[in-house]
Amino acid sequence: MAKKRPGINTICTHVGEIEDTQFKGAVSPIYPSSSYAFMDVDVKRYPRYFNTPNQEFLAKKIAALEHAEAAMIFGSGMAAISTTLLAFLKAGDHVVVQKDIYGGTRNLIEEHFDNYNIEYTFTEGLAISHFEKALKENTKMIYIETPSNPLLKLVDMFGISKLAKSNNIMTAIDNTFASPVIQNPVDFGIDIVIHSATKYFGGHSDICAGAVATTQANIDTIWSMAKNLGGSLSDYTVWLLERSMKTLGVRFKAQQRNARKLANFLSGHEAIKKVYYPGLDHHPSHEIALAQMRGFGAMMSFDLDDHIDARAFMNALKMIKPSMSLAGIESTVILPAETSHALLTAEERQSQGIGDNLIRFSAGIESRRDLETDIEQALVAVAKANV
Ligand SMILES: *Cc1c(COP(=O)(O)O)cnc(C)c1O
Repeated sequence: MAKKRPGINTICTHVGEIEDTQFKGAVSPIYPSSSYAFMDVDVKRYPRYFNTPNQEFLAKKIAALEHAEAAMIFGSGMAAISTTLLAFLKAGDHVVVQKDIYGGTRNLIEEHFDNYNIEYTFTEGLAISHFEKALKENTKMIYIETPSNPLLKLVDMFGISKLAKSNNIMTAIDNTFASPVIQNPVDFGIDIVIHSATKYFGGHSDICAGAVATTQANIDTIWSMAKNLGGSLSDYTVWLLERSMKTLGVRFKAQQRNARKLANFLSGHEAIKKVYYPGLDHHPSHEIALAQMRGFGAMMSFDLDDHIDARAFMNALKMIKPSMSLAGIESTVILPAETSHALLTAEERQSQGIGDNLIRFSAGIESRRDLETDIEQALVAVAKANV
C-alpha cells in the first residue's frame, strides 16, 4: 500500500530538511560550496549540476508538494520553463500552447522557436476543443497555464491529459497562480508541473527562482539540458527559498481567504463594474474550479467603473502597492493594459476582455478590513476628484 502523504503544512515545514548532524540545530544548514571532492564520492556535486545538498533536498519538498517523483530548482521561473521546453522539443516537433499564457513564455516561443525549427500553435480559446483543433501529426507537447492571467480563466486539466494521452503527447503546466496548496496537476494526469518560485513559493517579494516537478525519467531529460543551459540557483537563495516555503501553506490560505472576502466585497460595490475570481458563481470557469481546485486562489481582477481613472485610483491607495509582481504577503495591484498586455493594441486588449480600467489584485495577508478600508477610501478620493 502506498505510504500516506503528510499534510500540506507538514510537507512545507519538514520534507527535505537537511539534518544538522554536527551541531543539532533546528534548521537545514547551508552548504555554499561550489567545489566538492571528486574522489571516493557517490555523487560529483557542483551547483550547475543542480545537485548541491541544498538544491537536492529542497527539490524533495517541491516534489512532495506536487505529488511528483522528483523536482529541480532553477534560477528563475523562465529558466525552468525554457529549460523544460528545450529539453523535450526538438527541430521538427510541434507544441500546442494555450492562449493567454505568461508573457515571458510567449516571448520565448515567438522570438526563438523559429530559429530551432520548433513549430507552435497558440490556441484560439481555452476549451478542450480549441486544443484538439490545434493538434498536428508532429505535436509533441501541450503547454497550459491555469488559472491564467489576468482574468483567471481556467483550463480543464483532466480533459487536457485525456486528449494528450489518447494522442501520445506529453503535457506541461505552469502552476504558478494556483500553487500546490490548492492544485496538483499530476493527480489529473499532467506530466510536468512548472513554477515561478518567485511568486507564492518565495512569497515575500525578495527571491527570484523557479522549479519543475515530474517523473524521475523526465527530470533526467530536463537535467541533461539544464546542466548545459546553466540556469541554476545560488545555494544562499535555495536556503532562503526553503525558509520561505515552510510557511507556503499558511500564507497561501490566509491570502486566499482575503481574496475570497474581497471578491464578495467588490462584487457588491457600486464603483466596480465586474469582478473576475473563480470562486464567484458567475465566473465562466467556476465549474472547472470546483472540479480541479481545492480553493479559488488569491489572485483576482476587477473592472473599475468607466468614469474612474485607474491610475488615479492606484495612486490614491495608501497601503496596497502598485507593483509589477505578485503573490507576496503584501497586497499589490497592477494595470495589465500598461504592463503584461502593453504590447497589444487597444483593440486586441478589448477583444481579450482586458480594458484600460482592469485592475489585477494579488491578495496579501494583511487584515481584511484594512484592505477594504484602503480600497474604499481610494474609490472615495477618486470620486471626489471627479466632481
Ligand atoms: C512570474 C511568472 C513566470 C516567470 O517567472 P520568473 O521567476 O519571473 O522567471 C512564469 N509564469 C507565471 C505564471 C508567472 O507569474
